[in-house]
Amino acid sequence: MNSFSFHNPTEIYFGEGTADQLAEKVIRYGSNVLLVYGGGSIKRTGLHDRVAKQLQEADIRVVELGGIEPNPRLTSVHKGIELCRSEGIDFILAVGGGSVIDAAKAIAVGVPYEGDVWDFLIHKAEIRGALPIGTILTLSATGSEMNGSSVISNWEEKQKRGFGSSYMYPRFSILDPTLTFTVPRDQTVNGIVDIMSHVFEQYFSLTQETPLQERLCESILLTVIENAERALDKPDDYAARANLMWCGTLALNGGLISLGMENDWSSHGIEHEISAIYDIPHGAGLSIVFPNWMKYVMDERPDRFAQYAVRVWGIESNGRSDRELALAGIEATRHFFTRIGAPSTLADFGIGDEQLDRMAYEAVRFGPIGSFKMLNQEDVRAILQLCL
Ligand code: NAP
Ligand code: FE
Repeated sequence: MNSFSFHNPTEIYFGEGTADQLAEKVIRYGSNVLLVYGGGSIKRTGLHDRVAKQLQEADIRVVELGGIEPNPRLTSVHKGIELCRSEGIDFILAVGGGSVIDAAKAIAVGVPYEGDVWDFLIHKAEIRGALPIGTILTLSATGSEMNGSSVISNWEEKQKRGFGSSYMYPRFSILDPTLTFTVPRDQTVNGIVDIMSHVFEQYFSLTQETPLQERLCESILLTVIENAERALDKPDDYAARANLMWCGTLALNGGLISLGMENDWSSHGIEHEISAIYDIPHGAGLSIVFPNWMKYVMDERPDRFAQYAVRVWGIESNGRSDRELALAGIEATRHFFTRIGAPSTLADFGIGDEQLDRMAYEAVRFGPIGSFKMLNQEDVRAILQLCL
């Protein structure tokens, strides 16, 4: 196990009805709020009215920024930064899924910075401050509600990049599982794949002697697998939605489950290149990339893949080699993703090999990616080829 430090400052308020405690949380940080939301789901579900009413009753001024895209765009972030400056905003409230929260984080760090916020994503400038943000989460997937990361798309340049900072942790996040009852089936599936992928990026590690971290990862995977079909069959199953929600938050909250381990994150990097050009949902892209990444890298550590097969999928070893078990575990992963309705090939989105070179080039623009197996441009291209 490697040395580590850990601090996660985000307060979590979890449970049915927690959204009604919003005003008392917000008032601690500001009284001039930018309310950030997406394409309208919070209006359809009535959550927008519930939020607006509470803030109004607490004499909190609200300026609205709706219309944040899934795979949020830099143009929306710019719009938010302008609004914060012109309206004297002192707190940002994100109500939605990962896209809305990520946009709010980018706005928050962009406000005190004189240059273009995109500078942070291309490593041209360092984050030195941010407006405080809080969130009400409506979709279990990214963990953005309790981490310091954000992913923004520069649509004009066909680039999608992630960045992070300790300044970007939400001050608080409200996690009411009932708010996820209305998440459509396909987005529920995308979220499930994203949560599992976050665990994979940490679990498949070269670091040795980390039994607790490995079991934390396996517990999350098992819990997601147990609750996935329950939530898909019955979208208002509180226990299933609640378990998925907490799994999503723990899977990516500043690395809690994999402290002392090397992480990889190359599948996320490869997926970002796909959605940068084709704007497909993040979880759908991961469902295509991850099993192929697994096949490509498994020989780095067949024992870890064998452990995954046995402990997570209950595959019996029966004297089989680690390599055979590893392949069975990868097959089980693919089978599960397909069973819940996640895509398996780029062709499912009508994507061919036209942009493979460009995606491979962009994925390693700042150098080789990954740590379980370092990937260069040819490696990324080979994985993308498997995804066709
Ligand atoms: P999302 O893009 O935030 O939302 C997907 C869709 O679900 C939207 O159309 C949204 O509609 C809808 N939706 C959300 N909540 C709903 C509800 N309760 N009822 C009905 N519809 C609802 O999805 P996401 O998977 O959470 O976020 C994806 C983004 O996060 C990607 O850009 C990905 O790269 C990024 N990401 C970030 C991190 C991180 O650590 N920060 C990690 C992984 C991925 P509306 O727009 O109408 O609300
Ligand atoms: Fe993700």
